[in-house]
Amino acid sequence: MLANIKETHPFVYRYFSSVADGEQHFRRIREIDHYWETFSQDNVPLVVLDGSELPGYATFSGDFDIIYAGGTLGLLHAAVMGSVYRRSIVLIDSHTPGRSTRDWNISRGELDALCRTGLLTEEEIEECIVCRYKTGWAEFFVDNGRQRRLYLDNVLDCAVDADRLLGKALDKLLGNPECRVYGGTTFKKLYRFDDYVVAEVVGADGQTLYCRAKVFVDAMGVLSPVAMQLNDGDPHTHVCPTVGTISTGLEGVDHEIGEILVSTEPADMSAGSGRQLIWEGFPAGNGKYTTYLFFYDAVDSDNDKSLLGLFEAYFRKLPDYKKPGEDFAIERPVYGIIPAYFHDGFGCTRVIADDRILMLGDAATLGSPLTFCGFGSMVRNLERLTDGLQRALGEDQLSAERLGTISAYEPNVAAMANLMKYMCYNKATDSPNFVNELMNEVMIVLDELPVRYREAMFRDTLQFSDMMTIGVNVALKYPEVLWVTALKLGLGGSLGMIKNFVGWAFSPSR
Ligand SMILES: Cc1cc2nc3c(=O)[nH]c(=O)nc-3n(C[C@H](O)[C@H](O)[C@H](O)COP(=O)(O)OP(=O)(O)OC[C@H]3O[C@@H](n4cnc5c(N)ncnc54)[C@H](O)[C@@H]3O)c2cc1C
Repeated sequence: MLANIKETHPFVYRYFSSVADGEQHFRRIREIDHYWETFSQDNVPLVVLDGSELPGYATFSGDFDIIYAGGTLGLLHAAVMGSVYRRSIVLIDSHTPGRSTRDWNISRGELDALCRTGLLTEEEIEECIVCRYKTGWAEFFVDNGRQRRLYLDNVLDCAVDADRLLGKALDKLLGNPECRVYGGTTFKKLYRFDDYVVAEVVGADGQTLYCRAKVFVDAMGVLSPVAMQLNDGDPHTHVCPTVGTISTGLEGVDHEIGEILVSTEPADMSAGSGRQLIWEGFPAGNGKYTTYLFFYDAVDSDNDKSLLGLFEAYFRKLPDYKKPGEDFAIERPVYGIIPAYFHDGFGCTRVIADDRILMLGDAATLGSPLTFCGFGSMVRNLERLTDGLQRALGEDQLSAERLGTISAYEPNVAAMANLMKYMCYNKATDSPNFVNELMNEVMIVLDELPVRYREAMFRDTLQFSDMMTIGVNVALKYPEVLWVTALKLGLGGSLGMIKNFVGWAFSPSR
């Protein structure tokens, strides 16, 4: 398979050939890229069906309180439900549960939420932190003499070993003898009855199994066919394709500093009508360093969003960001498509639950559309998300309406979709360096305001009044943003922004 791209993607071929499991990663990337071929197709596959369609020959291989499909963030939630609330659970994942294609950064204080749920102790959390850095910064490419590096302390300053954290969650879950975990097992269909659901899954050996439970949790991430169906083929409005490596041997890296957002050039026009590429770099402990390349984009743009194409750009452009030295070696590639949703209304306008179905993580697409910290969002909301499901199960109230209240929807986070739209380069309305120039002015404004503003913005905890202060200051420094808004967002987008901001202003958490 990898050999097939030797001519078309020479950098990916060369570097992936040098990585342990390179072929396996390549296949996973192709699987994710296949998503774009199915996205928004006219005939959305129907995977949630009425119970009457369950084949008559189906026999149940188990009866549980909860079925989870998806073993990344789903595993964190399941571990609390299984080990703290002692619910019986079956969790399936088409790959290896608890093995992620990424690592996570988070602010140290946020991890305490894992203790509050009773899932992990302080010591166990510390064991998952592979690195802490002194400070971080963000900087955008401008050549107008105004470039400002914004320093950020105590923000996304912990690198977490995702697999180690999920491994601990898996151990806790399996500590309850009534819980089962199946890897290599793919969700196919869900049959819904009045009192229960039945999931049809195909195991690693090709056998079809049927599991019965009170409620189904969809944690299948951006690829979720359940979220696709329940949102009529439009589960996301925007995406952030992200690729990178955890490596050693890069020149000029500082192992005590995180580089949170960095751009090195104007919008790249080589893969469609334009995308503003952004780098991120941070130490990953033991001399390793993580570098990401990503861009914000609307799902319906004509840009190439394939991870394969982005990986080729990553390896080609990496020397402009961090030069690979003679001993450069990749420990593993990291990648994924992070989804975002613009809620066109005063509150949550996306389907995130249905009768006996609850979506979590990227399947629910409620993480910040600006910082794309889906792990952070899950951790921040884990107590509420688990306690809410425990209560709903206890009261046997598993309607769409009730489950819809158990969500990670945060009005301040949702409103960030409006800011994210400015990060999506649009050839029709933007000059090639528009995104960088605007973001540089935002950095200047944040640098001149008290530090709590920048901390809140990058930790997804911005209050309404803070946002207004930042917005007014940016408009004063960079008035072009006002007429660009009308062009870039259009009438519908501008009205949508007003609705979001009104909803946020009147929300209890403003
Ligand atoms: C490169 C990268 C870096 C990131 N860095 C950060 C960060 O620093 N901080 C942060 O907070 N967030 C970060 N994020 C975002 C965060 O990783 C995601 O929000 C999070 O992983 C979402 O988890 P999830 O479980 O919802 O989805 P996923 O991680 O996509 O997991 C979904 C799971 O479902 C399984 N699955 C899919 N389809 C099926 C099926 N049909 N049947 C059975 N199983 C199925 C998959 O195998 C997978 O294991 C990053 C994302 C990427 C891509």
